[in-house]
Amino acid sequence: MSNSSYHVLSELEIIEYVRKIPGLFSENAQLICKEIGDGNLNLVFRIIENGSSGKSVIIKQALPYARVVGESWPLTLDRARIESEALMIQNSICPGLVPKVYHYDKELALTVMEDLSSHIIMRKGLISRNRYPYFAKHIGTFLARTLFLTSDLALDHQDKKQKVVQFINPELCKITEDLVFTDPYYDAKTNQFNPLIKEVIEEIWGHGELKLEITKLKEKFLTHAQALIHGDLHTGSIMVTETDTKVFDPEFSFYGPMGFDIGAVIANLLLNFCSHEGHTLDQEERLQYQDYLLNTVEEIWIVFEEEFRILWKGKASEPYASIQGYEDDYILRLLQDSLGYAGCKMMRRVIGLAHVSDLESINDPKLRAKGERLALAIGQQLVLKRETAQKIGDLTSLVRYVK
Ligand code: ADP
Ligand code: MG
Ligand code: MG
Ligand code: MG
Repeated sequence: MSNSSYHVLSELEIIEYVRKIPGLFSENAQLICKEIGDGNLNLVFRIIENGSSGKSVIIKQALPYARVVGESWPLTLDRARIESEALMIQNSICPGLVPKVYHYDKELALTVMEDLSSHIIMRKGLISRNRYPYFAKHIGTFLARTLFLTSDLALDHQDKKQKVVQFINPELCKITEDLVFTDPYYDAKTNQFNPLIKEVIEEIWGHGELKLEITKLKEKFLTHAQALIHGDLHTGSIMVTETDTKVFDPEFSFYGPMGFDIGAVIANLLLNFCSHEGHTLDQEERLQYQDYLLNTVEEIWIVFEEEFRILWKGKASEPYASIQGYEDDYILRLLQDSLGYAGCKMMRRVIGLAHVSDLESINDPKLRAKGERLALAIGQQLVLKRETAQKIGDLTSLVRYVK
């Protein structure tokens, strides 16, 4: 590793560090620091000024290994650069929908950013059956703008190729390639699953057609440098209030297929949908919340498509963007990719390494198995039937049919 001065900062060092950054705190501010990270890979510190100013910031420092596994799994510190650079691009394209970046330090692999502690992790909110009436509008807009405006549709093709190089992210991509597209589909050591659903998982391992479709989606993930994607857009990478949405943690960013981000959002709403089979035993209440989630999925796509078409009309620089039929064909392919990636992402969270708390927090293994079986059934159908979808309603009909 070339970062000679890199070391993991203590809470005291963090305080001294942040004090020196111009424009954040006054020189003799009394600062309190606490490590608050709950993620799999990095340290996250919150620094608060004691007193009435109410000022606070977040420092995220990358560790040279994956925290969830330990030092036996080394991981590049370059992901801190990727994350800060992606955040800056997203800030310029979607101001207000991502945390502001105050400072990035290459040597220490850390980013100083806006504190979002007035928000909660969306996944937690959905487990509590909260509703977020602005979320679909916000995330649909985030997806349309970040994806369209970083693609060959909007960028000069030479500039775009430079951006592809800027965001080469092989080690983080490998995590996705292994954990999303490979390991869940055979008896891999990394897998962890509820023993009660072993027979369903064995069926998946033996399902040739499904594995062929997964492999096609994996190939597209490997080769289709369509736009700068977030790369890890689950509901643990989104913080919300009733009226605000912030997307963070883009350390997996690279030039990949747009549908991977759209599919990630859909998959995580659907995983939450499945988890209420275990969390919400009152049928009326469960059905109402599940309806809310499916309506949200539809609304996200509708906003996405609307915004994407507006950008196509006003911001496309690709000279062939106006070729008859191209726009409709492009958007239909995005829809079908999104279904496929949503399916992959649902299945990996049930079979593979790193589950979601929506399902994990169902204590009774039998009830959890009910939600997990549903997630696997929906996930498989999304992958297998993705190319039959013509509109977003086909996705929600499919979910209702499987259920
Ligand atoms: P990792 O890459 O390790 O998953 P995250 O960026 O997801 O790290 O951060 C881990 C946790 O730290 C988040 O789930 C959230 O609770 C907290 N966190 C991260 N960034 C912020 C922020 N800007 N404001 C408030 N809390 C944050
Ligand atoms: Mg995270
Ligand atoms: Mg997290
Ligand atoms: Mg992360």
